[in-house]
Amino acid sequence: MTDLISVAEAEALIVAQTPLFGVELVRLGAAIGRVLRKPVFAERDHPPFDRVMMDGMGVRWTDPLPASYSLAGSQMAGMERMTLQATDACLEVTTGAIVPDGCDCIIPVEQTRREGDRYVLAQGYKPARGQFIHAKGSDCRAGARVLDAGVRLGPPQMAQLAANGAAQVEIAVAPSIAILATGDELVEVDAPLGEAQIRRSNDTAIAATLAARGLDRIGLHHIADDFDATTHKLRALLAAHDVVVISGGVSMGQRDYVPDALAALGVQRVFHRIAQRPGKPMWFGVGPERQLVFALPGNPVSSLVCAIRYVRPALLTAMGLKADPPEYVCLGGEIQTSPTLTCFVPVHVRQDDTGRSMATPVVAPTSGDFSSLVHAHGVVQLPPGEGPVLAGAVAPLYRW
Ligand code: AMP
Ligand code: MG
Repeated sequence: MTDLISVAEAEALIVAQTPLFGVELVRLGAAIGRVLRKPVFAERDHPPFDRVMMDGMGVRWTDPLPASYSLAGSQMAGMERMTLQATDACLEVTTGAIVPDGCDCIIPVEQTRREGDRYVLAQGYKPARGQFIHAKGSDCRAGARVLDAGVRLGPPQMAQLAANGAAQVEIAVAPSIAILATGDELVEVDAPLGEAQIRRSNDTAIAATLAARGLDRIGLHHIADDFDATTHKLRALLAAHDVVVISGGVSMGQRDYVPDALAALGVQRVFHRIAQRPGKPMWFGVGPERQLVFALPGNPVSSLVCAIRYVRPALLTAMGLKADPPEYVCLGGEIQTSPTLTCFVPVHVRQDDTGRSMATPVVAPTSGDFSSLVHAHGVVQLPPGEGPVLAGAVAPLYRW
């Protein structure tokens, strides 16, 4: 057990080897959901002029106010700036229009009554000077930074890009990823099945968690448990991809050839085995061309836990994404832990009636397939310790 490293050490060793992937310039519509790699600055003041905030009429505020105003014209959204000439006259205005010169008060239409070519103020209505005027530059000034590099481009970020004239956007290039499933027992999703065979599914699970975060340049591959074939396949994958994720063949079995094949290809081992359950046999190394190589244990729960805990965060960091703070949940019941290993426990998460996120274990993570995981939202990480972690304790949650 002495060669085991901790989860935190494994993370740090991966981060130390993780490069920053390149950037590409794409048109605005192709940037949805991607990682921004260059800050964006305000094209102009926002709002760019004193903006009318209500449909109604623009007037010059006086004390007292006239009981009614003569209508002198209309300043609609998108029209060039007009000028109000007299204190007993008004201009009809709409939301989004420039506040006309000479106006310093917008009276909502529902506080007025039209009588011929005059607007009469509602009985007892007392508007304030400056009301319903959104001052030029009050949201942000021209040249202010509106988006930082490293953000994911969701709806408000996309709107900021559009509002500031960013027709072309500098985003992170997604790395090219190969996922290699190893195992004599594995067959394709549509192949006939022998009794001793199973369909391969780890690679699909790993691809699903990566692709859902924009890591979508993925090829799926399979190789039998054979040293020469594994070496041959890995050589080809390393030549064509930035990242190779391997599932299976990395444990202590007679036919676990992956570490030896990687060594033969000059992939430098950074670590092998982490003090955790499940996922202890995980192997990580760096190829001759700085390719990142993650070899995950084949047990389906192990491989997915390692993918979400190590592969996914490393690749998101490599795309320049600023890490989100971890999400914490409250344990709904006692969970057994290990004195020496960090435990990852699949949990179902729901909100209690005070709005707290409560996590309930779904099943012990020794299970050999995904059937129970479909009811879990992710895993909680529990540090090594004597005795169980008690109900009510708080733990970080890693979603699938
Ligand atoms: P291994 O790490 O290669 O010893 O595999 C451990 C267990 O996980 C075995 O029961 C394998 O059949 C299973 N397994 C390995 N790879 C996959 C895969 N891609 N899909 C589903 N099960 C797998
Ligand atoms: Mg195997």
